Amino acid sequence: MHVEFAIIGGGIVGLGTALALLEQGARSLIVLEAEDKVAAHQTGHNSGVIHAGVYYRPGSLKAKLCAEGRAALYAFCEAEGIAHDRCGKLIVATSAAEQPRLDALAERAWANGLTPRRLAASELHDYEPHVAGVAGLWIAETGIVDYYAVAAAYVRRVQALGGELRTGWRLAAVRRQPEHLTLISATEETITCDHLITCAGLQADRVAQLCGVDPGVRIVPFRGEYYELALAARALVRGLVYPVPNPNFPFLGVHYTRKIDGSIEAGPNAVLAFRREGYRKTSFSVRDTFDAFSYVGFWRLASRYWPTGIGEFYRSFSKYAFWRALRTLTPELDVEHLHPAGAGVRAQALAPNGQLIDDFHIVQAYRMTHVLNAPSPAATASLSIGKHIARLAREE
Ligand SMILES: Cc1cc2nc3c(=O)[nH]c(=O)nc-3n(C[C@H](O)[C@H](O)[C@H](O)COP(=O)(O)OP(=O)(O)OC[C@H]3O[C@@H](n4cnc5c(N)ncnc54)[C@H](O)[C@@H]3O)c2cc1C
Repeated sequence: MHVEFAIIGGGIVGLGTALALLEQGARSLIVLEAEDKVAAHQTGHNSGVIHAGVYYRPGSLKAKLCAEGRAALYAFCEAEGIAHDRCGKLIVATSAAEQPRLDALAERAWANGLTPRRLAASELHDYEPHVAGVAGLWIAETGIVDYYAVAAAYVRRVQALGGELRTGWRLAAVRRQPEHLTLISATEETITCDHLITCAGLQADRVAQLCGVDPGVRIVPFRGEYYELALAARALVRGLVYPVPNPNFPFLGVHYTRKIDGSIEAGPNAVLAFRREGYRKTSFSVRDTFDAFSYVGFWRLASRYWPTGIGEFYRSFSKYAFWRALRTLTPELDVEHLHPAGAGVRAQALAPNGQLIDDFHIVQAYRMTHVLNAPSPAATASLSIGKHIARLAREE
């Protein structure tokens, strides 16, 4: 079989890219997914938030693609009849020390084209009656959706436009030939293509390597664990309630998220994972652990963040510590209201100097485009990232 474009990874970024290429007139295209269904990893294990784009550096790829992608995603959900809710979110400062950071977030939100509303302590209850804090920021543009449903709709559109999807097809090797690339699966099936695009999430660095490309970064997995609020406690939260994030850490801090089915999740934390696709506290892989611990960038990161890292581990094993973090936002929360729910694993690219790569990161090589860092808000931005990657691939 020969195709113009082959895409590795049936997550939301690979599927968004497939859609964009077909809409731009790709002659033939196939999405190749290792698991037996699409959205099996990050896409199917995330918080389901349509991010507004408050936090990102103005002018960054993240800021630009989040704004474009959010608008495109709302329109897509309307057109496809996918349940979603533009419910808004409240960011809460719980101490006076957090107020300057809240002000800085408000400025950033304006710079990113949003219309944030700064709230005094007395106004918080108009939005979230059970939340306590000294000030807040209301972001009306944020929403919620089920990204598994979005990914399934992308598949339907891709197939309607003539694209193909093959699941259970894991890329194991690539042969570069003058006139095309030959892709070889773990079961030794071959497909040839003019251009290869890899959107392999937690395996992004390894997939680039097996294509003969030096990724320049390593993927370090961070597990994010969730609790669900008991039915009796659901009234404590109307929508999305976030703390003011630690500016030195790329994750947002444990927060409340109303899901599209009405349940309320609390989390996720961010714990170093010992297995890239491991969703339990006990998940362990010798190869994944060795890859993280043998990387110089990891030790440089660890030397800066070890107190935060240990705190996250403690919170992972102690429900009380998780509860204490949430209780600062909602003092009426009882520890018995928290029931363990699922987990997701974030693929975070780490540079050799110990810097966590903040922005989306895409590397090109002859006949190839590799997505090496597509962290949150890549699900929100999937349609615009897809267009961006499709443009890069066509140029290449
Ligand atoms: C806990 C958590 C919460 C998040 N919350 C949000 C949120 O609320 N809003 C938001 O916008 N974003 C959120 N994100 C981020 C978002 O989910 C991801 O950025 C997005 O899903 C990335 O999509 P992807 O397609 O790059 O990766 P993935 O969904 O991980 O897909 C990659 C795919 O590649 C496949 N693959 C890997 N290797 C191979 C191979 N060799 N051959 C074939 N296939 C292969 C994998 O099986 C996988 O299906 C969250 C992420 C996590 C983990």
